[in-house]
Amino acid sequence: MKKIALLGSTGSIGQQTLEIIEQNPDLFAVEVLTANNNVDLLVEQARKFLPNVVIISNENRYESVREALAQLPIKVYAGCDAISQVVEMGTIDTVVTAMVGYSGLLPTLRAVKAGKQIALANKETLVVAGDLITRLAIQNRVEILPIDSEHSAIFQCLVGEAEEAVEKIILTCSGGPFHGQSAEELAKVTVKQALKHPNWEMGAKITIDSATLMNKGFEVIEAKWLFGVKPEQIEVVVHKQSIIHSMVQFCDGSIKAQLGLPDMRIPIQFALGYPIRIKNSLPRFNFGDCSTFTFSAPDTKNFRNLALSYEALYKGGNLACVLNASNEITVKAFLNEKISFTDIAKINELVMERIPFVKHPELGDYMETDKTARIYAEEMILNGGK
Ligand code: MG
Repeated sequence: MKKIALLGSTGSIGQQTLEIIEQNPDLFAVEVLTANNNVDLLVEQARKFLPNVVIISNENRYESVREALAQLPIKVYAGCDAISQVVEMGTIDTVVTAMVGYSGLLPTLRAVKAGKQIALANKETLVVAGDLITRLAIQNRVEILPIDSEHSAIFQCLVGEAEEAVEKIILTCSGGPFHGQSAEELAKVTVKQALKHPNWEMGAKITIDSATLMNKGFEVIEAKWLFGVKPEQIEVVVHKQSIIHSMVQFCDGSIKAQLGLPDMRIPIQFALGYPIRIKNSLPRFNFGDCSTFTFSAPDTKNFRNLALSYEALYKGGNLACVLNASNEITVKAFLNEKISFTDIAKINELVMERIPFVKHPELGDYMETDKTARIYAEEMILNGGK
């Protein structure tokens, strides 16, 4: 029985994780649930799964959660610090990091230091501080199991293979809803259009990141840290059908791929169950329904965010942290209709140019970089992207 702390239980990944846990009551139990703001759903989940601890990060909502759960043997806390502390609890085996953005960094760091197995859905943690997190994971003999579908695919292709046999990682990419559009067309994209992803149902932040290819850029960075490869060993290929979730090319020229329907429950289940592959009755892919697989190169000229990620990876230091912070601000501004779709990458690039470069950042440098980059991005948004 694996005891699980689920950080971000009310989001899309969080809810699907609970679905897997519910279907496998002999294998998994919920020890901790945390959410940002969604009191109603958090309370509903807590009543159903009866965790030991529930945390609401928004402290203003603490009273309503506490009252709703008062009759149950559940400890209720509030605030981000409580989340960072609770992951160290002795009863936890695996921490599922399913919160959005930078907020995942500190709790993941503490969980790694406490020797907990990590099922990582919060890719931003590795984008911001991949160097630090992977160093600590090695020191503390912690396994980081990817939940991201592409990285789960790569991880599955690597089972039984030697590290030095890997020649190249091929990350597939749906291209998002605007693949093939010109710069002029992209500048006119509305929030409503950007929130419609062709193949995956996801939260708002990651849906916009998928449309700008920021998500793919972050996944390139995530792949570097998870699999210990060089930037030049990571290739992105547009595969519009989203059936091949990624591939690995080996030193003999063989390529292994992992395929399946685009359903996050499969990678979530693989991470939770690893090293065991658990049987399920989710819908299966049928080759008869998809007669064509297409592949093409991504457009890094009109989708600058992907190029910026490679730049951050080659130069290293705090640059990816800058890109992540700026992108959180610019995506929010786009969702609030303050800037255009193409301004997202434009402002991200300007912020990357202006923040002081730190070659070997430690935690304090990352925190400072994150703060400063957000301020710069906010200022540029107010100045109309200048
Ligand atoms: Mg992904």
